[in-house]
Amino acid sequence: MQNAQPTSSHFINGAYVEDAEGAPIECIYPATGKVIATLHEATPAIIDQALSAAHAGQKIWAAMTGTERGRILRRAADIIRDRNCELSILETLDTGKPLQETLVADATSGADALEYFGGLAATLTGEHIQLGQDWVYTIREPLGVCVGIGAWNYPTQIACWKGAPALACGNSMVFKPSETTPLCALKVAEILHEAGLPAGVYNVVQGRGAVGASLVTDPRVAKVSLTGSVPTGRKVYAAAAERMKHVTMELGGKSPLIVFEDADIDNAVSGAILGNFYSSGQVCSNGTRVFVQKDIKAAFLKRLKERLQGAVMGDPLDEATNFGPMVSADQMNIVLGYINKGTDEGATLVAGGKMAERDGFFIEPTVFADVTDDMTIAREEIFGPVMAVFDFDTEEEVMARANDTEFGLAAGVFTNDLTRAHRVVAGFEAGTCYINTYNLAPVEAPFGGSKASGVGRENSKEAINHYTEVKTVYVAMTPVEAQF
Ligand code: NDP
Repeated sequence: MQNAQPTSSHFINGAYVEDAEGAPIECIYPATGKVIATLHEATPAIIDQALSAAHAGQKIWAAMTGTERGRILRRAADIIRDRNCELSILETLDTGKPLQETLVADATSGADALEYFGGLAATLTGEHIQLGQDWVYTIREPLGVCVGIGAWNYPTQIACWKGAPALACGNSMVFKPSETTPLCALKVAEILHEAGLPAGVYNVVQGRGAVGASLVTDPRVAKVSLTGSVPTGRKVYAAAAERMKHVTMELGGKSPLIVFEDADIDNAVSGAILGNFYSSGQVCSNGTRVFVQKDIKAAFLKRLKERLQGAVMGDPLDEATNFGPMVSADQMNIVLGYINKGTDEGATLVAGGKMAERDGFFIEPTVFADVTDDMTIAREEIFGPVMAVFDFDTEEEVMARANDTEFGLAAGVFTNDLTRAHRVVAGFEAGTCYINTYNLAPVEAPFGGSKASGVGRENSKEAINHYTEVKTVYVAMTPVEAQF
C-alpha cells in the first residue's frame, strides 16, 4: 500500500506546522481508492499564523535586491530538477496522473517557472519620462501578501506558476492547494526554503473552500490568484472586489478545436488526443469541442479509433501506462453523468463510455460523434476524457459556432492554408490559440482566458504586471505655478 504522509499538514514561516484541531482531510490515491495520507484543515489560528508570517516575511523579501531574490528562485529550480523523480512520484500519488506524464510535465514545468521568473527578478524596473524640465519616474512595487488557490489537476505546477512570479516581484504568498491534492505544494514550500527563501515568504495551508474564502477576505491580503472553475471564480472575484484586491482568475473552458479538410489528419488526430485525453482529460484548456469538416469526418473518426488502441490504462506508477484515473470518485461520477447525458440526448458513442473494470477511478477514453451545439456535452465543461466531435460545412459557420460559448480559454485550428489559419485565430474569442498543435503552455508565453474563462495572464513577462503596481513620482524642477 502507498504511503505519502507528509511531515505535517501546513508549511508556515519556514517550517512544517500541525494543528490537529482542524477537520481531517483524507488524501486518496485515485488508482486504488485507498487513503495514502491524512492531513488537517487549517483552523482560524493556522490561517492567522500563515498570514502574519507572510506579512512579516514580505518586508524582508522585498528589501532584498532582484538579483538576490532571483538567485534563490533559480536555486529552487535546480533542486526541483535534481529531485524530479521523487517529486513526480508524489504528483502521481496526489493526482493519479501516470508517471510517464508527471516525469516531464509537472515538477519540470514548476522548475521552468522558477527559473524564468528568477531570471526576470533583477530586470524589473520603472521608467523615466521627461516633461520639459520636469520629469516623472515610476517605481514598480510588489503588491504585498498574495493568496494562491489551486485546482487539483496540476498541484505542483500551479503552486509554482503562482509562486514564482509573485516572489520574483517581491511579494509573499500563502498558497491553498485543493483539498483533493494537498501533498505537492508542501514540497514546493520546503524546497524554496532549502534554497534560501526567508521564512514566511511562501506558506502553504490546507483546507476546503471555506479556508480559501477566509484567506481571500483577510485585509492583510493584496491579491488573489485562483485556478479553478467558473462558479468558484465568480465567488472569489466578488469577495476580492469587496476590498478592491487585485486578482488573476484562471478558470474553466469548453474550447473549440477546428479541423479543416486540408489538414494533415494524423496531426489533427494527435492534437485532438492531446487536447482531450492528456491527464485523463482533466486539463482546463482542453479542446473538447472538435469541429471536423464534413468531407473528412469519416477518415478522422477512423484514424482516431485506431489511435485509441494505443491508450494503456494501468498502474500510474508503471511508466508504460499512458492513461490514468480520474482524480476522485466524485469527479468520476460527474464525468459518467455527462456520458449518460450525451447518450440520452442523441450523440453517437464512437468509443469508450464506461468505467474500466479495475480498482480506482478509471473511465475509458470516450468519443461522441454527431454532437450538436445544444447538447449538454457541447455546452458544459466536463473535465474528463470525453471528446465531442461536431460536423461543419463552412469556415464562416464554424467560427460562429466555435465562439458561441461563455468560455474563452483556448482554441485551436488544424489547416494547411496559411492565410486561413491566421484569419481563424484572429476570429477566435479565446486567450490562448494554437495553429496545427494543441495544449502547449511554455512559461515564456502568456497563458489565460477571456470571457468567463478568466482575468489576467499567467507566465511570461505579462505576469509581472499582475504581481506589481506602478507608483508614479512627479519631480518638479521649476517653481510651482498656482492659480492665485
Ligand atoms: P474548484 O473551482 O472547485 O476549486 C478551485 C479551488 O478553489 C480549490 O482549492 C477549492 O477548494 C477553492 N475554493 C472553493 N470554493 C472557494 C471559495 N468560496 N473561496 C475560495 N476558494 C474556494 O475547481 P477544481 O479544483 O474542481 O478544479 C477544476 C477546475 O479548475 C476546472 O473548471 C478547470 O477548468 C479549472 N482549471 C483552470 C485552469 C486554468 O489555468 N485556467 C487550470 C486548471 C484547472 P477545495 O477544492 O478544497 O474545495
